[in-house]
Amino acid sequence: MDSKVYIVQCPDYAGVEEKLASLIDLMGGMGSYAKIGEKIVLKPNLLRAARPEQAVCTHPSVLAAMGRLVSKEGAHAVVADSPGGGYRYTAKILDDIYRTSGMLEAAQQAGIEVNWDTTSRPVSFADGMLTKHFDIITPVMEADGLINLCKMKTHLFTVMTGAVKNLFGVIPGLIKTGYHAKLHDTMRFASMLLDLARYVAPRLTIMDAVVAMEGNGPGSGDPRPVGLLLGAQDPLALDVVAGEIMGIERKENPILMAAEQREQTPSRIEDIEVIGAELADVKVPGFKRSVVSAGALGLETIPWYQRLIEPFAKKAFTVRPRVIWDRCIACGTCIEGCPVQAISLVNERAFIEDDECIRCYCCHELCPEEAVGLFSSWLYQLLKPA
Ligand code: SF4
Ligand code: SF4
Repeated sequence: MDSKVYIVQCPDYAGVEEKLASLIDLMGGMGSYAKIGEKIVLKPNLLRAARPEQAVCTHPSVLAAMGRLVSKEGAHAVVADSPGGGYRYTAKILDDIYRTSGMLEAAQQAGIEVNWDTTSRPVSFADGMLTKHFDIITPVMEADGLINLCKMKTHLFTVMTGAVKNLFGVIPGLIKTGYHAKLHDTMRFASMLLDLARYVAPRLTIMDAVVAMEGNGPGSGDPRPVGLLLGAQDPLALDVVAGEIMGIERKENPILMAAEQREQTPSRIEDIEVIGAELADVKVPGFKRSVVSAGALGLETIPWYQRLIEPFAKKAFTVRPRVIWDRCIACGTCIEGCPVQAISLVNERAFIEDDECIRCYCCHELCPEEAVGLFSSWLYQLLKPA
C-alpha cells in the first residue's frame, strides 16, 4: 500500500462531482478501485439522523458522486453503514438516518443500492495485534471491495475521527458499545481500530472535508468550511494528513500514537507524499478541537504516569457528561448506548451516575436533542490546552 495522500480544493458541495472525478484521476483512475461486475460497498459516516448541513454525516453529494464513478466502471455500488454505537442496527433506524441525512434520495438519484440487511457475521483476524475477532455487517462481507467515505471531524474520545475511525461502523449497532466497555483506555481502543482497518482494508478512502466539524464532535460540534476533498489508499496515511490540516498534533492523536507503538507506518507526516494541493496552503488556522481528551493534556506521552494516575485522572482531568434536563425527551438512546449502564431514567429524564461513567462520550455523541452537556472540573480548567 502506498503512502500518498491526494488533496483537491472543493469549495462547495455543488462542485463535488467534478472535483471528486479529478481527485480520482490523480489517484490513477476509477478503474484501479472498481471493476466490471464487482459489488462495491460505499461506507459513509452515518453517525446519527442529522441533516447534511449539520456536518455530522458524510455529505450525500459525495456518496452520489462516488456511486456514479463506480457505476461507470460497470461495478455495482451499495451504500451500507451501521450508525453510532447507541443505535440498534435495525431497518427502522437505518430508514430514519438514510432519510434525514439525505442519503436515501442521493442513492436513488445515483442508482446506488441501499442496504437494509441488518445481519452480521463473526470473523477471525489472526493478524490482529490486539483484536482477533470481529462481527462485521453482512453487506461488507459479501462485497468484493469497500470504499471508505469518511468525514473530517473532531471527536471527544479519539480527538479526531477520519478514515480509520469511520471503519468502526462496519461493526453492528450495540456491539460497538462493548468495545468501549472493554477498551476504556484510548490507546487500546485506537489499537483495536487499527486492527479493524487492516482487516477491512478499504480499496480507497475519500474524506469529505468540504464542510468539516470542529468543536465537540463527532455529533454535536460546529460545521467548519474547509473546502477540500482528500483521497488515499491507506486510511492511516489519510488521517496523518487530515490531522495536520486540522492542527491536531501527532502526540494528541491516539490513533497515530498507537500506530507508532505498534510500529505501523505511516504515522508521521515525513513518511507521506502529499499530491495535489500544497499542505501548507490548506492548513486551517484555529480549527477548534473538542474540550476533552487525556491526549490533549499530553498524558499519553508519559505512560507510567498515566497508569499511576488513571483512576484519578478520569475524574479530574476529563470532562464530565451531564444531562441537561429541560432538553431531554427521555428517548432512551443514551441508555441503550452507554457501555457500562451508567445512565437510567429518573423522573422521566436521563440521569448519569458519575461514579460508573468511563468517559467514552457515546451519550454526547448520540443524543438527538443535544441534551448531554460537558462540564469540566477546576483542575481540567487549570490544565487544559490553550
Ligand atoms: S439525554 Fe438525549 S439520548 Fe438520553 S434520553 Fe435524553 S434525549 Fe434521549
Ligand atoms: S454516561 Fe459515561 S460511560 Fe455512559 S455513555 Fe456517557 S460518557 Fe460513556
